[in-house]
Amino acid sequence: MVPAGTQHPPLIKNMSSTRFKEQIRNSISQESLQIALDANAERRVKGRIAAFASLPDWGGRRQRAHAVRADVIAHLDHYLETFIARAQDNGIIVHRAKDADEAVNLVLEIVNQVGADGHPPLQKLVAKSKSMVSEEINLNHALEKENIRVIETDLGEYIVQLRGEKPAHIITPAVHLRRADVGKLFHEKIGIPYTEDIPTLTNTARKILREVFLTADIGVSGVNFGVAKSGTFCIVTNEGNGRMVTTMPPVHIALMGMERLVPTLDDLALMLSLLPRSATGQKLSVYTQLINRPLENQVRHLVIVDNGRSRLRASSLYEALYCIRCGACLNACPVFRELGGHAYVGADGSIAPYPGPIGSVVSPGLLGENFVHLAQASTLCGACKDACPVDIDLPKLLTRVRAGETRNQANGLDEVAKFGLRMYSRVARNPGMFAVSQKLAALGTFLVSPFSPWFRIPAFTGWGSSKDFPRFAAKPFRARFKREASFYSAPQGTKDPDAKVSKPNEKELRDPSAISVQKDKAAQFSEELTALGGNVYRLPQEQLNEKLIEFLRAINVDAVMMWDKVPGLDEARLTEAGIALRRSDDAQVRVGITGAACAVAETGTLVIASGKGQPLTASLLPEMHVAVIKSSQITGTLEEAMTLNEMKSAAAVVLVSGPSRTADIEMTLTIGVHGPGELHVFLVDG
Ligand code: SF4
Repeated sequence: MVPAGTQHPPLIKNMSSTRFKEQIRNSISQESLQIALDANAERRVKGRIAAFASLPDWGGRRQRAHAVRADVIAHLDHYLETFIARAQDNGIIVHRAKDADEAVNLVLEIVNQVGADGHPPLQKLVAKSKSMVSEEINLNHALEKENIRVIETDLGEYIVQLRGEKPAHIITPAVHLRRADVGKLFHEKIGIPYTEDIPTLTNTARKILREVFLTADIGVSGVNFGVAKSGTFCIVTNEGNGRMVTTMPPVHIALMGMERLVPTLDDLALMLSLLPRSATGQKLSVYTQLINRPLENQVRHLVIVDNGRSRLRASSLYEALYCIRCGACLNACPVFRELGGHAYVGADGSIAPYPGPIGSVVSPGLLGENFVHLAQASTLCGACKDACPVDIDLPKLLTRVRAGETRNQANGLDEVAKFGLRMYSRVARNPGMFAVSQKLAALGTFLVSPFSPWFRIPAFTGWGSSKDFPRFAAKPFRARFKREASFYSAPQGTKDPDAKVSKPNEKELRDPSAISVQKDKAAQFSEELTALGGNVYRLPQEQLNEKLIEFLRAINVDAVMMWDKVPGLDEARLTEAGIALRRSDDAQVRVGITGAACAVAETGTLVIASGKGQPLTASLLPEMHVAVIKSSQITGTLEEAMTLNEMKSAAAVVLVSGPSRTADIEMTLTIGVHGPGELHVFLVDG
């Protein structure tokens, strides 16, 4: 725990960067980049507001999430110890890396071990899904140096990898590109005819990457959250590539920052109610995976990375470790919206793995002085704090990075300047004092300006003698911003902007079902899933078999991948109707049929647990996923679903909320990337 009042040692030393300034000028002058960044920010911010409108108690949840993250960081050793012990009990091979070199060497060792010890021969091919830690430790570069092919499988990451670039945003890696750039790239690198048609581009990537999933020896993924109590780790994706890399290759390596823990599954449900809404404006990402154990014939490794986190935790910037990497502060930041991620460069010209407001704290905090100047790239307007779902006081941290930089200057500032900066830091962190100081500064400026009745003498002030003095704005920026901020951060229908941080309603917190809309859960589930692009057919039990056969015939399907047992489905009747039932993975079969452990009404989600005769691949490999579920299996909320025994007992559980999707090219929604492009649910009454 970091005790209150602790004098934190200075973490960061100063280093100015002319490269950073060059990159800023470069970004601002690129019209195409500006259009792409504006489109991203507008849609993400609006999506976030709309998504939070469906969460009436979101202000309370935000405060709870802050408290949960604060508790985890304060007692990190305890939670890590518990998490590691549980994960090991579950059969996960856990490694700890103190820095980037150690993490890279651990991964290399695991990769080189494949092919030995009776593993299948090493193809030297790694299928990788999005992982910010892997960017931080520069994993791809290290693997490629050892002649190991690494293919990024998230569409945005695949695009930037083909361009030889780093991601430009922690959620939307190709945010800086427009469809014409991707069309040109695919034409030059893959050899397809030039096209700007986004479904064609997405489908091209799907075909290439499907081959990678099926042949890779190793899958590498990140981790969004680790659950200390159960040893579970959670990965959220929309495209299905996260599911592929953790399911198809015989060896899976998950990379996790050591701070990414929550105490319980209930806390995980809380984080999941905030993360996707903040990141992509979704109530839940399409695929939320909960991984407990290795699947059959699979080895799972978990590499827990420190790489500066312990040092950051012991510094005055420890609150940055509360971050859940949603990217909302990037989208809200007026500076990031002009620059994009590639402008955030170190003194050595290298691109910071984490850009934007949180990146300007975390990058120097984890990686040192090379990135310290990034904290200057902020107006301290507070938009990042307002957007943050775990209420991190980013302006405070940014001013601390700036202050740390000043404290560490070798030549030192004089005592008066130091005092002034200390005072500024204190005032800037207090909204009320900051507003008053702005008014006083404006008054002082006015008194010595040419508009002042007392000092209209150019010789006295120097102002006005050679150039016009700008007119004062009718209201200071802060006052104008406050009006807009209420638009950006208050849920729809909230009149009072301060309501966004209202205290949690105790009744709501103790009984989440009390806040769910009291209507037929099955109807709500159908409505939600249909809105996500799924199809729901509600029917009585006695019609199930015939309706399913009718459905399969209508789409000319005579073979399906199916679980050994799907409750309510008569296999003999299907076989009699000429439908071949495949029990093992078959990449050629178009339809997979599964049951489900339960469904969640509030998010339109199916909860699918792996088990004997229940391969998760049936809901992943085919282009169409058909699920059969009884209406009595529908729960109201995600919190209720988290109490299911399967969440802890199954090797892996996936929460499916609609068909696979992406918006990685020009924020245009495209369905069917790596997972099924169609989801059909037969919802059985009785
Ligand atoms: S600081 Fe907050 S808003 Fe920014 S990425 Fe982290 S959790 Fe999201």
